[in-house]
Amino acid sequence: MATYAGVDLGATNIRAVVGDDSGTVVASRRTGTPQGPNGIAVTEAVLDALRGAAEEAGVDPTRIAAVGIGSIGPLDLAEGAIDNPANLPDTIDRIPLTGPIGELVDSDDIYLHNDTTAGVIGERFYSERNPDDMVYLTISSGIGAGVCVDGSVIQGWDGNAGEVGHMTVDPNGFMTCGCGVDGHWEAYCSGNNIFRYARRLHDEDPVDTSMPLESADFSSADVFAHAAEGDAFAEHVLDQVTRWNVIAIANIVDAYAPLVIYVGGAVTLNNPERTLDPIRERLDDVVFGNVPDVQLTTLGDDVVVKGALASAMTGGTGDRSRVR
Ligand SMILES: [Zn+2]
Repeated sequence: MATYAGVDLGATNIRAVVGDDSGTVVASRRTGTPQGPNGIAVTEAVLDALRGAAEEAGVDPTRIAAVGIGSIGPLDLAEGAIDNPANLPDTIDRIPLTGPIGELVDSDDIYLHNDTTAGVIGERFYSERNPDDMVYLTISSGIGAGVCVDGSVIQGWDGNAGEVGHMTVDPNGFMTCGCGVDGHWEAYCSGNNIFRYARRLHDEDPVDTSMPLESADFSSADVFAHAAEGDAFAEHVLDQVTRWNVIAIANIVDAYAPLVIYVGGAVTLNNPERTLDPIRERLDDVVFGNVPDVQLTTLGDDVVVKGALASAMTGGTGDRSRVR
């Protein structure tokens, strides 16, 4: 039986799994992502996690036929590396991945994707409903999408297609994105920004609220919690968040015509109804073509690492008919 591996390289955690040729995970390792001193330290941690998962699975790493990687970006696909990752300290400039991993497992079949591309590959492989046209969308600390059109997973020349969190949704630019540009989707709707958006809205209109807006611990989770307890201002903030989500998702739908959008990421997974129900209700009003099925991801927190494993098994496609 062939053995494959998948890696999820995140800003906080690294996960490595080893699976069999049915896509079943037989061993996994998790470790914290090194925050320094340099990119090589992150490469070493990825290799350690892979070695650990292989050991737990009882296979020598060289028995692993192929490895898929779903990673934070930005990617340099030509070099098989991550280049100046936005969400890690500045001293981590470059993280070589495909070369060192290929040496560890003695294979040239190493597939590098950004994490949301790995996500759509995972949904394509594992989900019961997996049409040729589908999207995986993550609403987490940031926002991004993996897109499959006509059965082809879209990567872009450098691997960075699908950075939809940086689409401009608000031409007035009320909020400034972490990338420095005003009006980007994730500046309003990501886990890193919903609470900041709440503060800014309150600065404009200082109504009564039970939310601890000035507290250093104030978080996006608090906005959802206070809305659930009936705080009218928290509700208002989430309505505005929905408004931007609907605009951006409608743009994705009109651009790519997906039949299904699977949505994951911590913001969605922690608040599935509050996030997705109002999107489902309002999408019909703004989409020109077919309104897709908007579903919570079927793979939960495993979507990236399982997508990476599915990529290894299917030559980077997620197409079940292409398991080698
Ligand atoms: Zn941006």
